Amino acid sequence: LVTALNPKSITFFVAFLPQFLDTKGDFWTQMLIFETTFIGLAFANAMGDVQIHKTKLCIIGSGPSAHTAAVYAARAELKPILFEGWMANDIAPGGQLTTTTDVENFPGFPDGILGGELMDRCRSQSLRFGTEIHTETVSKVDFSNRPFRVFTDSRTVEAESVIVATGAVAKRLPFPGSGDGPDGYWNRGISACAVCDGAAPIFRNKPLAVIGGGDSAMEEATFLTKYGSEVYIIHRRDTFRASKIMQSKVMGNSKIKVIWNSVVVEAFGGGDNKRVLGGLKVKNVVTQEVSELKVSGLFFAIGHEPATKFLDGQLELDSDGYIVTKPGTTKTSVEGVFAAGDVQDKKYRQAITAAGTGTL
Ligand code: FAD
Ligand code: NDP
Repeated sequence: LVTALNPKSITFFVAFLPQFLDTKGDFWTQMLIFETTFIGLAFANAMGDVQIHKTKLCIIGSGPSAHTAAVYAARAELKPILFEGWMANDIAPGGQLTTTTDVENFPGFPDGILGGELMDRCRSQSLRFGTEIHTETVSKVDFSNRPFRVFTDSRTVEAESVIVATGAVAKRLPFPGSGDGPDGYWNRGISACAVCDGAAPIFRNKPLAVIGGGDSAMEEATFLTKYGSEVYIIHRRDTFRASKIMQSKVMGNSKIKVIWNSVVVEAFGGGDNKRVLGGLKVKNVVTQEVSELKVSGLFFAIGHEPATKFLDGQLELDSDGYIVTKPGTTKTSVEGVFAAGDVQDKKYRQAITAAGTGTL
């Protein structure tokens, strides 16, 4: 009733009152029509009204960089408004760490911490200092004039400054066995971050594989040689696109073997434990031959996609879509708009580095 009783719905109501009273039927039928209309109006108003907020700082994103920025800004009494997204880029509020299990390299947690729990704690810390959090995805921004404007479906924020901390999404391949359902080995041998997960006991002294042919694949394969018995790089072509220096490190490492011109077509379970990855079916794209490769770990290194589409070209991006920041700062091409975390960092892409840039 409170939502329905606003000037817009009352005007509508008065205008249509004669028609309602004309409705054929007894008193209760008329009342039913009356009430249904009221509820409809309340719903339409709730959906249709866009609330406008004014703030010194609006933060877009919900990973470690967004929450670190929020804690620092709230403690500086900037009263930040933070949009944490609602399944933005198919990731829950809290960001990429909500898609993993143990985080073992974030300082302060000597026994590790679940990614989801770490992000819940970050969120609580933002709230504790007075950050206003909305579980809504930003669909549009207007950085052409100050105050900047940030839009969701139900709110417009007018902000003196904005921090974009929308992160990036590691690309995955959708072959049978690669998913996180009951028949998939995602997080049970398959990962998209060797630096994060490579040291886990299930990978120790076991054969491992990396898919990709760029710098990330070279870096991840080299890193994994510390833990695995051998590391296969499975690449779909017969040359790498990685920089020469990274390639030569890989080629000079006796623990790394390259499987050229090949793609993974299926992942299957292990011998004793069918619940964890045991191997891959690998197809040679030249001969079409499919062979089995026994591995306990598979790491996608086929690139990331930064979450910058909603910016609609209003900030300078590099050729891969990452926001360009002035070296050593979080300043973007628009004065007063800052970028923190993975959305502006294609090299390190770690929770602690993302949190670090949130302080800047
Ligand atoms: P992200 O974590 O990328 O989060 C940004 C979030 O903002 C999005 O996910 C979404 O929820 C929200 N958002 C996006 N667009 C919008 C929008 N338009 N409006 C509102 N909200 C939006 N790093 C480590 O240091 N240790 C690890 O063990 C580790 N494990 C990992 C495991 C996996 C499987 C993955 C994928 C990554 C892992 N990482 C790890 C990397 C780490 O998660 C990232 O470096 C870090 O989360 C980046 O933080 P961020 O602040 O840039 O934002
Ligand atoms: P890239 O886009 O450079 O490479 C992705 C790789 O994945 C390519 O080899 C590509 O194959 C392969 N690939 C893409 N899609 C598929 C698919 N569907 N199936 C199989 N293979 C696929 O991404 P990176 O993450 O490696 O690098 C991104 C940027 O970050 C680059 O600019 C890189 O230089 C930089 N970087 C720098 C580092 C450093 O300097 N230490 C470390 C990591 C990254 P194909 O070659 O056939 O297209």
